[in-house]
Amino acid sequence: MCGVFGAVLPASFGTTGTEAGSVAALGLFALQHRGQESAGLAVSDGDQLMVYKDLGLISSVLDERRLPSLRGHLAIAHCRYSTTGSTVWENAQPTLRLGPRRALAIGHNGNLVNTRELLGHLRGGRSRLPASTDTELLTALLADEPAADTVDALVRVLPRIRGAFTLVVLDERRVIGVRDPHGFRPLVLGRLPAPDRSPDRPRLWTDDAATTDGWCLSSETAGLDIVGAEYVRDVEPGEMVILEEGHEPRSVRFAPPDPALCVFELIYFARPDSYMEGRNLYEARRRMGMELAREHPTRTDLVMPVPDTGAPAAAGFAEASGIPYREGLVRNRYTGRTFIQPSQTMRQRGVTIKLNPLREVVRGRRLTVVDDSIVRGTTTKQIVSLLRKAGAEEVHVRISAPPIYNPCFYGIDTQIETELIAATKSVDEIRDFIGADSLGYLSIAGVLAALDLPYERFCFACFDGRYPEPVPYDVESRKFMLEEEEPVAIRG
Ligand code: SF4
Repeated sequence: MCGVFGAVLPASFGTTGTEAGSVAALGLFALQHRGQESAGLAVSDGDQLMVYKDLGLISSVLDERRLPSLRGHLAIAHCRYSTTGSTVWENAQPTLRLGPRRALAIGHNGNLVNTRELLGHLRGGRSRLPASTDTELLTALLADEPAADTVDALVRVLPRIRGAFTLVVLDERRVIGVRDPHGFRPLVLGRLPAPDRSPDRPRLWTDDAATTDGWCLSSETAGLDIVGAEYVRDVEPGEMVILEEGHEPRSVRFAPPDPALCVFELIYFARPDSYMEGRNLYEARRRMGMELAREHPTRTDLVMPVPDTGAPAAAGFAEASGIPYREGLVRNRYTGRTFIQPSQTMRQRGVTIKLNPLREVVRGRRLTVVDDSIVRGTTTKQIVSLLRKAGAEEVHVRISAPPIYNPCFYGIDTQIETELIAATKSVDEIRDFIGADSLGYLSIAGVLAALDLPYERFCFACFDGRYPEPVPYDVESRKFMLEEEEPVAIRG
């Protein structure tokens, strides 16, 4: 998973020439939860592109020593995580390629599913790629494309690309936001009102109208909030939005929309203060907890969340069930998510580093413990064990998502099916494995009821196996087909 941000700031926003880079870096801070392995920033001054990227958290990569040298009124930023041994500097983003016709930098969120086929389209083959990501391949294809400009190159190349791709693309003069036809990963457009703008000025979406406003693209609306930008609208599936200094954003459609936003973004991944599909995600998750209480009621003394991501659903569960809500686990905020640490050993170690039970709260009590997902089961097992050691009398686990049966090929790391506990164990077997007194998952219908949105808007493939875009995987025989021999690692 990755976070992307883009910014175009006219001269009225400052005179140092570093404002766009600073705004993009700040926006990216709000997206740190989407990737903690590397971060980077690319800027253009209208003439030349410059990229700085490195492994590490955003605060250590894009600090006050680096930002002053990244000058330009156009900027894109990216944070990334992967888990398959490709955490190397070369694979950090934005990518940069100086092609015969254009210079390009790209930040990508999502995974492509036809990487091998695309590699066949690249002149010179894999030896031309300095990194082993699908993003590097896409950047090379776009830089090579014999089209008049970047927008034309995108219009020609993007229809050949399959899978999940939310992009921020930077050339010398523009920042371009792109969402694949399914819109698997989110992207929103925001406006930074010009310092000199009259408050009465109409705020219409008018192609090519002159503007002194600044414009931003962000994976999540929380990124707009942190830089003080107002939300304008989502970039639509199959659309690119072109940001250019002095102009209102321009929309170009490169494919008909076939929406399938990743429902996991709403259940777990995105920040609770972000909005998607018109829903605030804290509220959506609270309602999922309420549905969960209806589907799988408990008789316990307390409802408690697995912090922090289980908190909204636990609040909803408590509200709907009338059982008091308490916090029974304290999270160390300065460790990463266990879900995205690189190895199973690290994950197992991570949960004890991360969580500590409040003995006074849990001792002698029957607990309903609410979390938003069980991926491998090891984290939940350790949480149940921690609570029992702290004196809990009963531990009833409730999950505000359906069981994850299938791997994701669109950019969330539930990739290895053999690691998904629900793929090989029944709910009762999972309950026994984690050591809980009972276990209940929210149904797909329950998720949809909480969202009050139709199934057709979302991808639910990891829950029901209905992949909106064909993947390099034989769902019938449950065998990987291309993964082992895939020549280019696929991580966005
Ligand atoms: Fe999201 Fe699951 Fe679909 Fe992947 S398979 S995009 S995690 S809903």
